[in-house]
Amino acid sequence: MAVPSEARGAGGGKGLARPARGGSPPTQIRVRMAPSPTGFVHLGSARTALFDYLFARRQAGVFVLRVEDTDEARNQPHFETAIYEGLHWLGLRWEEGPDVGGAYGPYRQSERMDLYREAAASLLKAGAAYRCYCTKEELDAEREAARAAGRPYKYSRRCLTNPPVGRDQFTVRFQVPAGEVRWDDLVRGEVVFDLDTIGDFIVMRADATPLYNFSVAVDDARMEISHVFRGEEHISNTPAQLLILEALGHPRPTYAHLPVIVGQDRQKLSKRKHPETRLALYQELGYLPEAMVNYLALLGWNAGTEQEIFTLAELEEVFDIARVQRSSAMFDWQKLDWLNGHYIRQLSAEELAARLAPFLPELQPDVVRRAVPALQERLRRLADARELLEYLWTDPAAPDLEVADRDKVRAALAGLDGVAWEPEPIQAALDALREREGWSRNALFKPVRRAVTGRDISPPIHDTLALLPREEAFRRLSRVL
Ligand code: GLU
Repeated sequence: MAVPSEARGAGGGKGLARPARGGSPPTQIRVRMAPSPTGFVHLGSARTALFDYLFARRQAGVFVLRVEDTDEARNQPHFETAIYEGLHWLGLRWEEGPDVGGAYGPYRQSERMDLYREAAASLLKAGAAYRCYCTKEELDAEREAARAAGRPYKYSRRCLTNPPVGRDQFTVRFQVPAGEVRWDDLVRGEVVFDLDTIGDFIVMRADATPLYNFSVAVDDARMEISHVFRGEEHISNTPAQLLILEALGHPRPTYAHLPVIVGQDRQKLSKRKHPETRLALYQELGYLPEAMVNYLALLGWNAGTEQEIFTLAELEEVFDIARVQRSSAMFDWQKLDWLNGHYIRQLSAEELAARLAPFLPELQPDVVRRAVPALQERLRRLADARELLEYLWTDPAAPDLEVADRDKVRAALAGLDGVAWEPEPIQAALDALREREGWSRNALFKPVRRAVTGRDISPPIHDTLALLPREEAFRRLSRVL
């Protein structure tokens, strides 16, 4: 890759001393996740974090969390908190970050401004960047002229060749060399970019704040990041970041651009169109973090075997970034539900009760515990328990039953008289009644269910009844008669 000759061996700027250009790559595995706290946590960010975490675990490396909060207008502290909460919910942890500290801090970009300014000064000194005094209006006019002429826009380099005099407001522009940039992407293989398509780009604004590609490259270098995993949408940023790293004399990290996640409509998951983009949704609906981790791992990766069920600990053993696919990963609710059902059924009754409790604040812990056997086999998501058990904390209106159904309820009342108020005796009493009268399950259970819950769907009828206090069950049955 061609670099302006003055830039060779640069990197002597204050605080930026590093081995000469192309110096030996970092020996320690250090990966980073670099979220911007400008909105809710994205499903794709959670996947990136998981892959970072697994790669670091597998290679005895370090996982760094770096908060990219330079967009003052859009950053919110609660979005940063949401990142920690979302990743902790998944069971991920990191060795370095704003919340845990570390030797390469600070870990918020807003606290690293001096480093970007130093790096920009060093690029200017080395001749790899230059001051651009063009005003917004002048640049808009250039862009407009390119558009009118039907050619892609590239900065004219006016300030490199013939800078206007008497101006003091400037941005710092990187001087893009001729040639091409290539890298071996762990997912996409060799990627080649023709530098002719990239105009000289701004690295520092006039207010001395860095642009995204600049702060990322400076931080990846300063934090000695060995591997950068991120979404495919960043692939077009990589050439600029590689140019900056090279001009500063830093070794390159290895890149892996992860495939996009698409919805069932085959469109890239977008905050606006796809509710499944928001990580917190899964917590709200009652997906278990175990299921979510398993599912995220399969979004673009497979073990190369038939195995699809993996705990986090198992993934730490088998995850291989080289097995990440290039083609997009399709989000599939059915598969997620299947995994969630699997993990729900794996829980002990005690554990499931504890996980259900936050979804059922209306119920006493012992009621939740008694409901578990009726729920464990049928729950898709923990929050589904609300609909199934709502009749326990509401008083559903008495349904208007037909005469034949009222007769069944009357018979059930008689059959349940004196029966111990537990699922098994209730079941035995109702079955005996059905057999005696020659009624199908549905014929008897449906009106009984509607009488006590007001609905057609509930846990098995004997559980449904036993979860209510006996007097309350009898009251609801009697009132439809
Ligand atoms: N702050 C960027 C983002 O949230 C980071 C991209 C990267 O990992 O380089 O998309």
